[in-house]
Amino acid sequence: MHGYVNCTMDKKTIVKKFAVYGRNINPLAVETLMKNINLHNLDGIIAHICKTVDSFVISPEDVLNALKCYKDEKEKVEPKPKKVEVKDVTGKSMCEGTIEDFIAYFNSRFEKLSSFVRKRIGGIKISSLDKFKNEQVEVVGMVKDVRDYGEFVIFDLEDKDGVVSVFASGKLRETALELFDDVVGVIGVYKNGRIYADRIVFPDVPMRERAKKDFGVVFISDTHFGSKEFLKKEWDLFTRWLSGEVGSGKVLDLASKIKYVVIAGDIVDGVGIYPKQEEDLLITNIYAQYEYAAEQLEKIPKDIKIYLSVGNHDAIRQAEPQPALPKEIRDLFPNNVVHVGNPAYVNLDGLNVLIYHGRSLDDLITKIPRLSYDRPHEAMIELLRRRHLCPLYGGKTPIAPEKEDLLVIDEIPDVLHSGHIHTYGAGFYRGVLVVNSSAWQAQTEFQRKMNLNPTPCNVAIYYNLSLIHI
Ligand code: FE
Ligand code: ZN
Repeated sequence: MHGYVNCTMDKKTIVKKFAVYGRNINPLAVETLMKNINLHNLDGIIAHICKTVDSFVISPEDVLNALKCYKDEKEKVEPKPKKVEVKDVTGKSMCEGTIEDFIAYFNSRFEKLSSFVRKRIGGIKISSLDKFKNEQVEVVGMVKDVRDYGEFVIFDLEDKDGVVSVFASGKLRETALELFDDVVGVIGVYKNGRIYADRIVFPDVPMRERAKKDFGVVFISDTHFGSKEFLKKEWDLFTRWLSGEVGSGKVLDLASKIKYVVIAGDIVDGVGIYPKQEEDLLITNIYAQYEYAAEQLEKIPKDIKIYLSVGNHDAIRQAEPQPALPKEIRDLFPNNVVHVGNPAYVNLDGLNVLIYHGRSLDDLITKIPRLSYDRPHEAMIELLRRRHLCPLYGGKTPIAPEKEDLLVIDEIPDVLHSGHIHTYGAGFYRGVLVVNSSAWQAQTEFQRKMNLNPTPCNVAIYYNLSLIHI
């Protein structure tokens, strides 16, 4: 990540920049400014200070007050969801997996994630830390090499042209042990060439209101059509309920409100996904599996729009982001099916849903002891905090190094929907509904051996601010 244009700024330049606006700045205020800002935004911040402060001589208090409202203002301009219906990698994949691609990928990841952290804290360049002996500092960087020494943890934090060791003890030790290739902010005292952390700041999502819509959205996942363990009876009950043929009272009433069904991938069981899979298959031909899948989706009423994403069992490249299914397979499906990649942002009449199959959840649950397969939504909340769908690089989830990191959670969705884990879990995190909608496949021999206990056939419905689980 080194080798970027160096934009360190000296005190004289700052004084000159204020002079352009006809202002004087107190030397202490210059110090305050340098301590509290990321120098990339210097011009914008100086313009903001001169606009909001009336006094001729700018004091340190003026700087702090102006910075505070500057940060608040920035907090407000979270990118607004665009009005496009679907955003994913389909037809846009550019990567060839060269070294240059990986560098571009990590730069994109760093740029995007650090900009979210900078909305929450200031941050100086790591290379300028030496000016601040025994002082409180704020820096933003990508985590490298977390080392556990028992009582404390030391990790490296790297920005575009510097790297510093961060010492984390007490409660922060636990937080530090859960860091992977994250981009975080660190606030602490810079002493003896390292930062003694007081706070670790994640990119995170700001609090938002739950989205209220007068239509229902059904979230399901991992149908695994073609598997011997596909739960046909339950599936038929589900599609008959959607068609208004079964159920009574409120449950039946709810069926008439459903406008969308969102499926988070693993639509078929696939072929050759794990050792001896053929023993678990009812349909051993991949094309025939998709024909069967199309037949099953035909049972969903045509006035319901179906968004169909892909997972690691589907017939598409495994590396994420994954494009939508190839055309010859897409063509098998009825017209009310919209094929999308993984991940995909879809806009359902103003309800923004981020669909992510959920492969990285395996990595998170394995690496973070407090997470568990029984509560998949808690692992999903980690994705939101880190604003990345695969915070851990080099785990079980293969990543295609696209020039733009499409696994960054750029836009904060109303709903984050995953599957893959085959267990049900849902909750709200800062106004965002996180839902893992399990599977339509009973426990396979492979899962039994792996001690994975699915909770199949859960249907999550989002309707009028609340989550209904049937
Ligand atoms: Fe699956
Ligand atoms: Zn899967």
